[in-house]
Formats: sequence, structure tokens, C-alpha cells
Amino acid sequence: MLSTHMSGHPTGSASGGKQTLPELPYAYDALEPYIDTKTMELHHSKHHQAYVDKLNAALEKYPQLQGRPVEELLLDLSNLKVEEADRTAIRNHGGGHYNHSLFWKYMDPANKKDELLGKELVSVFGSVDEFKKQFNDSATKLFGSGWTWLVRDTKNSKLVIQNFKLQDAPIMDNLYQPLLGLDVWEHAYYLKYQNKRPDYIAAWWNVIKLL
Ligand code: MN
Repeated sequence: MLSTHMSGHPTGSASGGKQTLPELPYAYDALEPYIDTKTMELHHSKHHQAYVDKLNAALEKYPQLQGRPVEELLLDLSNLKVEEADRTAIRNHGGGHYNHSLFWKYMDPANKKDELLGKELVSVFGSVDEFKKQFNDSATKLFGSGWTWLVRDTKNSKLVIQNFKLQDAPIMDNLYQPLLGLDVWEHAYYLKYQNKRPDYIAAWWNVIKLL
């Protein structure tokens, strides 16, 4: 399954105690025509950068938390010894940093089919097409800003499709292990697809080689 690809810390190391924007492992135009160059450039260099910057700002008061991978902060979110307003900022901006770091990897043109995950999807959903249909349905219905994820429930290891609001990350408090996520915030598609979210979702599958 995907964890073989995605092992380790997808966000890279925090440098000098600061969280840093991971480099995109491919060019901004690599996903054309499905995800356009301008959207990729803004999404990575502006939106993702802003999550990183605001996460660093939220951690300023807490030297003991600086330099910890964002995964660790999110896994332990409820127990972090921070003020509640800062916990919310870590949830939002740490989640944004974490989610986007995975999102870029899922769309990497160098990805190969994940046979094991494919088999598991067939056993759970009947077919990969049926899985995609249910995933698309969930992403289409998500109201407002958020993400649709294929996750593994850490309580029972079951695969589930789940919507998350805003930048809530599946690994928050170790509830779910993320396997594949789709950003359905308007900033992810509006330049090319405007209000036609289903067209964006359909196009996105062309850049996912894992299934
Ligand atoms: Mn985004």
C-alpha cells in the first residue's frame, strides 16, 4: 500500500527549527493539461508557503515544538502544551502544510501503480472504478472548503472514504492513516475549472497513477 511510497516524513525536515516548504518533485507544468501551470505555481509557492509561514508564526512561543516534524505535532495535537488559539492555528496551518506535502506526492508523474492498494480497494469496494465513483461522489458533495481522503481507520485498519473540513489532517490525534487525498478548496481548481468542481475531480484522476 501507499505507506511504502509515503514512509518517513513527507514534509521533509524542519530546518533551523523552522518548518520549510518542500520542493515540488516535478515542474509546475508537469500535470498539464489536467492541472494547469498557473494553478500549480500559485498553489505550491503561495498557498502552501502561507501555511508553512503561519505554522512557524504559531510555534514562535514554543521553542520546544520548533524543529519537530509537523506529523508529530498533528499526531499529538490534543496533548500539545499550547494555548487553545495556537492549537487551532497548528491544526489549520500545520494541517495545511502536511496535507499539501502529501498532495504533491500523490500527483507525481513518477509514481507507479500500487498493486497492493488496488487489490485491497477491489476487496472493499468491489472494483477500483466503484471506489473512484464513491470517492468522486464524496468530493462533489463536500460543502465549502476541505479535502476528500482515502484513509485507513487506525482503530480497525479498515479503508474508508472520508471528507475533512478545512485543513483538518487525517493523522490528527492518530485517527486515520492517509492514503490518497484530493484538495477541493476552490484555490485548487478555480482558475481552470471555475465552479465546475466535478470536471476538476474527473481531470485529477489523470494525474493519479497509483490506482
Ligand atoms: Mn490547497
